[in-house]
Amino acid sequence: MLKPASLCKPIEYPKPDGKLTFDRLSSVFISNTNHEENQPAHLTLKDATVPVGINLKTYAGPEARFCPAGVYEFVKVDSDEDRLQINAQNCVHCKTCDIKDPTQNIVWVTPEGGGGPNYPNM
Ligand code: SF4
Repeated sequence: MLKPASLCKPIEYPKPDGKLTFDRLSSVFISNTNHEENQPAHLTLKDATVPVGINLKTYAGPEARFCPAGVYEFVKVDSDEDRLQINAQNCVHCKTCDIKDPTQNIVWVTPEGGGGPNYPNM
């Protein structure tokens, strides 16, 4: 269960060394993740106001941290307001967001066409 960000101290993680630890986008590249274009989104929100109104405000936007593929990004729009951008094409199907989202607002469904990560050496 997540605590509100106001009750926690930020953790400074060391930068990836490129030997044993890697940045998120390099890890997504290694996963050979592929989703067909123009398919219905397999990641949706029950309520589009929750990511900014609750998750960012109270929990400092945990979806931008717990997703191992960097699918969720808070970006600034014209008026300097935050907005959640979902880069669903990078999803590696771990389903962390389906479990860890504090208000269970994220809906993960199986993508069409059998897309997703492909680890040929496993
Ligand atoms: S299932 Fe959710 S947490 Fe896991 S990679 Fe996909 S979007 Fe990220």
